[in-house]
Amino acid sequence: MSEDGALVLLSGGQDSATCLAWALTHFTHVETVGFDYHQRHRVELDVRLEFLSLLCAVFPDWASRLGDDRILDASALTAIGQTAMTQDMAIEIGENGLPNTFVPGRNILFLTLAAALAYRRGLRHIITGVCETDYSGYPDCRDDTIKALQVALNLGMESRFVLHTPLMRIDKAATWQLAQDLGGQDLVDMIRDHTHSCYIGDHVTHHDWGFGCGQCPACHLRADGWRRWTKA
Ligand code: ZN
Repeated sequence: MSEDGALVLLSGGQDSATCLAWALTHFTHVETVGFDYHQRHRVELDVRLEFLSLLCAVFPDWASRLGDDRILDASALTAIGQTAMTQDMAIEIGENGLPNTFVPGRNILFLTLAAALAYRRGLRHIITGVCETDYSGYPDCRDDTIKALQVALNLGMESRFVLHTPLMRIDKAATWQLAQDLGGQDLVDMIRDHTHSCYIGDHVTHHDWGFGCGQCPACHLRADGWRRWTKA
């Protein structure tokens, strides 16, 4: 297993794009993986390819560290259904206090598939953009879940994976600042204009913080973080 090999869960959104830049400054070999679960914002799968190719063009040092990119099928999540992330239904807060965009087990499944891929590829480090600072309240984004999962994955695969969550304790404004610190204005511009966070999949309406409907929880978080960062 490569001590310096890493796998980044790259969805195509702001957080995972920032995590990719973070990984490229910390590890010498970085591979990426995305998941197709027939998400309503499936446009993110196209956007992530656009982001990867731009990143390579603008940051040649990082390009030399970037390895394979893969998309894995996670469509079982769609078959289970009943979430506003995978079906055309209004986004609202449920009785449990969570928005109905919550897909039970999504990040647990993604990290399990990522670890299986990392096992096959001999990569020790797994990087995910989950955050419990300003987030939608999804319990599988919390530090406790990730720490427990790290133990379970290592026991179950007899490995020494390290799960990294560079954004866990920072808010969306600080995530923009991290992008600035890692790659300067070029990276900030690239993340603003060539990533996608909107749950609805609106990649047409452009705002000063990037594309999105401006109304869904993901757009609210992204827009609010941008405003706080640019006013700071
Ligand atoms: Zn939106």
